[in-house]
Amino acid sequence: MYTTVEHAAPALASYLDDKHHILLITHVNPDGDAIGSLTGLGLALEALGHAVTLLTPNSPPPFVANIPAVNRIQSYSHATYLPPTVDMVVLVDTGDVKRIARIWEDAHEYLLARPIAVIDHHVTNSGEGNVNYVDASRSSTCELIYELLRAWDFPITPDIATALLFGITTDTQSFRTSNTTPSALRTAADLLDVGADRERIVHDVYNNVAVSTARLIGHALLALRDDGPIVWTYVTLAMQAACGAHDDAAAEVTDYLSSLGGFLVSVLFKERGGGIIRVSLRSLPSVDVSAVAQQFGGGGHRQAAGCTLVTSLAEAEERVLAAVRAALGLQPGVPSRAVV
Ligand code: 5GP
Ligand code: MN
Repeated sequence: MYTTVEHAAPALASYLDDKHHILLITHVNPDGDAIGSLTGLGLALEALGHAVTLLTPNSPPPFVANIPAVNRIQSYSHATYLPPTVDMVVLVDTGDVKRIARIWEDAHEYLLARPIAVIDHHVTNSGEGNVNYVDASRSSTCELIYELLRAWDFPITPDIATALLFGITTDTQSFRTSNTTPSALRTAADLLDVGADRERIVHDVYNNVAVSTARLIGHALLALRDDGPIVWTYVTLAMQAACGAHDDAAAEVTDYLSSLGGFLVSVLFKERGGGIIRVSLRSLPSVDVSAVAQQFGGGGHRQAAGCTLVTSLAEAEERVLAAVRAALGLQPGVPSRAVV
């Protein structure tokens, strides 16, 4: 596993150089960093003379619709044609192969028949590629791709700059998380220098919440509970249907929860149907929620992580909140209010 661009850039270049057709894939329920990495690297590889196919396990959320080249992305279905001409696979922003969900379940033989590169910044990344560039100290996979393109002396276009800045902006929650390093800020500045469309990004991230999402936030906030340093709520399928909310609307509830003062950890439980509960965890820098998510087979970052449980909403709440309390060093069931 390479953790520095000095080593990763030549290694990745030697894998990619003689390849004609590159399949880029990112994780299920792709976020801004996933899509920015996919299209930013995809456009660069295309400019370098490769054929590229961009693939996501399910459709990207509406707020990424203006990221350059997003219309080039194919959203996977069982009928999706995976071209036999592909001679290299690149997974971006993907902590482990299971995060590409149905693509992995259906097509792992196809994927494993080709060299796989992984470019990622998740602390839980297991390095499953033939070549892995993983640096968990970086804000985003988009920041790693910027480093890579610069090491290759690639001239970054305004479209690529916009895609990469989108991912850095969203993965740092707009330069608020602890991985908002000097390097992340310098990268953002460099991307502005080469023409990234900051106004577009700010509009799409902040002035773009649907009314149906606002209603869902309202429902979820009515159900809000707090106990000492932990705040949580849930989104059920019924709430989502009542509001006519998009499948990704719950992400806005997660953001709202994490903005509340006086808590160390916030948790959103989202009912998915078929007995599946998706859990989103957020924390202040002193608490590592990726370790909590890992206990349930998930992963992520210190301050933003997630996992999936196959159980009832009540049972998921009980189990995950117990693990959060344990991570905070609290007695089971009797947390005391923390001084934050
Ligand atoms: P979210 O709560 O927004 O779904 O996810 C927060 C972060 O945790 C993201 O970086 C996401 O990629 C990661 N994450 C969420 N769920 C999982 C999971 O089930 N497994 C792993 N490895 N990472 C996850
Ligand atoms: Mn990311």
